[in-house]
Amino acid sequence: MSKLYRAINKNETIRFLIINSTEIVEKMRITHNTSSTATAALGRLTTMSALLKADIKGEKEKVISKIDGGGPAGLLISEVNNKGDIRSYIQNPEIDIPSINNTKLNVGVYVGKNGSLAVIRDFGFGKPYGGYTNLVSGEIAEDFANYFYQSAQLPTVVNLGVLVDKDFSVKSAGGLFIQALPGYTDEDIDVLEECINNLPPISSIFSEYNSVEEIFNNFFKKMEIQILGEEEVKYKCSCNRENIERALISIGEDEIKKILEEDHHIELSCSYCNKKYDFSEEEVNKILKETKAS
Ligand SMILES: [Zn+2]
Repeated sequence: MSKLYRAINKNETIRFLIINSTEIVEKMRITHNTSSTATAALGRLTTMSALLKADIKGEKEKVISKIDGGGPAGLLISEVNNKGDIRSYIQNPEIDIPSINNTKLNVGVYVGKNGSLAVIRDFGFGKPYGGYTNLVSGEIAEDFANYFYQSAQLPTVVNLGVLVDKDFSVKSAGGLFIQALPGYTDEDIDVLEECINNLPPISSIFSEYNSVEEIFNNFFKKMEIQILGEEEVKYKCSCNRENIERALISIGEDEIKKILEEDHHIELSCSYCNKKYDFSEEEVNKILKETKAS
């Protein structure tokens, strides 16, 4: 469980979202047994998902972010719902690539930049709303900053970071989202830039500072930031038998019958949490019958 904070400057022209996502990203790493670079890449996307929780309003609403950059990582997905449950997926969790100068994990090359970032808002009814932009660098934070700038036309800063320890566990992870609000002045942006220029990487900030108040006081003092609210987010898969049944149906009747002839049961696992769901021949036939009837 981690806490997501919403805050605003004194002039009420710039909003802040900030989270220490260490726990969430460590749980993600354990779930997918990710390589170090995969931990950093999917950890950044998972942290972004946590920040996106702040703008979810509807009870059944969820936001799904997808990055497909053509790099060794393959497809990356992260989803957050109204309850603050986050789940993530990466196509090639085990693949790793050399670090830059043996120190910096090379997320940009691992993800690739020949592709797109999609942010899909699913309201739980009607058609989901999707926005797309081309990737800028595959470093994820930059790609999201570009996405938000393109979609809202407001200056946006996105800072996402994951520090991987020597034993491959997550030492520290965090995210910071800053966006100017309509009516901001040039002076507001000048002050913000001054603060940001002195800002160390977000993951190292969270390995040194315990509270969000301390961080705002240390790095954004001039902006006189006020915390507006906090909420809990956690890494937890929302899968259940019902939505795995839908995945089963999508295999198609012919293929299902072929599997049943050989195995007399079907086992499917959730791609977000690897939990296995077993369906007996009897159950599968019942599901097929019900699908036809509806
Ligand atoms: Zn699951």
